[in-house]
Amino acid sequence: MKEKSKIKLIKAREILDSRGNPTVKVYLKTSSEESNFSVPSGVSEGKYEALEIRDKEKRYFGKGVKRAVNNINQIIAPRLKGESVLKQERIDQMLIEIDGTEQKSYLGANAILGVSIAVLKAGAQVKKIPLYKYIAQIFYGKQKTQIKKLPQPSLLLIEGALHGGNNLQIQEFMIIPQIRLFREQLRIGSEIYQTLKLILNEKYGKASTNVGYEGGFAPLLNRAEKALDLISLAIKKAGYLSKIKIALDIAASTFYQKNSYKFEDKIFTGSGLLKYYLNLSKTYPIISLEDPYFEEDWENFSLITQKLKNKITIFGDDLLATNPERIKTASKVGACNGLLLKPDQIGTFSEALTAAKEARKHQWKIMVSHRSGDTCDTFITDFAVGIGADSIKAGAPNRGERVAKYNRLLEIEEELFS
Ligand code: PEP
Ligand code: MG
Repeated sequence: MKEKSKIKLIKAREILDSRGNPTVKVYLKTSSEESNFSVPSGVSEGKYEALEIRDKEKRYFGKGVKRAVNNINQIIAPRLKGESVLKQERIDQMLIEIDGTEQKSYLGANAILGVSIAVLKAGAQVKKIPLYKYIAQIFYGKQKTQIKKLPQPSLLLIEGALHGGNNLQIQEFMIIPQIRLFREQLRIGSEIYQTLKLILNEKYGKASTNVGYEGGFAPLLNRAEKALDLISLAIKKAGYLSKIKIALDIAASTFYQKNSYKFEDKIFTGSGLLKYYLNLSKTYPIISLEDPYFEEDWENFSLITQKLKNKITIFGDDLLATNPERIKTASKVGACNGLLLKPDQIGTFSEALTAAKEARKHQWKIMVSHRSGDTCDTFITDFAVGIGADSIKAGAPNRGERVAKYNRLLEIEEELFS
């Protein structure tokens, strides 16, 4: 196994993601195995995320990733040649050291993550076990691990803000079916999604069923409550009233302005917004709120968590940036009780695991997440299963790069539980 696990080749290339923007794809070979990973990329990016490198040249309007690709081919590949893919932590540490910067700005988090996950996948192949099992072994630090549950899907129905061409300021309106089997959760979610499509078509015409970056509908609405009413109607019409909870990604950094929040034509203070959220959570079956405040508004994050923690989960996305240090700070001040986990925000697999462990230390919930610019890669599904995440958000039950991740969960469910 030792000889088979040695890296023979690492090669990267520039490809396109689901938004049509360039991204990095990494190919890796050992003497017996081949793996690859395509790196996702967000549009509503947090200030504290590890930095992806873009070329800032004329081609692709500055978004090319040739520099990140060259960093892999010319700097990382020669250094990692001959290393064992089974030494994940060592390799991640080498990547961090070669980079040598706080936010991975020398090599680029897109270059680093691409290699880190390609190594991980090859490791699972060398061991001849499914990726989720390999991840569980590393996460729990033991060879024998038993996966007892799968993450629940947080299925996107309507999107707005930076993700949809409409005036909705809340970025993601999602549903989480509260039933046992994943295949049934997916079916119910899909039926509600299709019911909503019919309702939108009937009320607002065909154009209202066009979709945003993550496959959710992006109707020309401008009030969140309108979107929530339409979703409630779709849930009712599809016949699942008692079985559905609603999850919202507020992505409030996008409407924060000078110590206040400009939301739906009003200026809100932190406490004004808290009242608004309390009201929403009384009217609709809301189970979680992600980024209800700006990424540096620790105070209001703490106030809302204090108020609602027994009822709903407050997920930190931009606030935490999957960064173990920020998670520690957040737990000290009680800023949230859930980690939105995006491996590309921190840049290596090992650090993403540390983030997950830190969140679990405080009994937080974990939701693993895709990015608005994604690919058909399904790594995050295996990752969510392997670390025992509570939920996974991978967009709507629509569009190839989104359903690929849910379809992978169908496979895993069959493998583990039938
Ligand atoms: C998010 O904000 O949770 C998200 C998935 O969007 P993006 O990838 O654009 O950051
Ligand atoms: Mg978010």
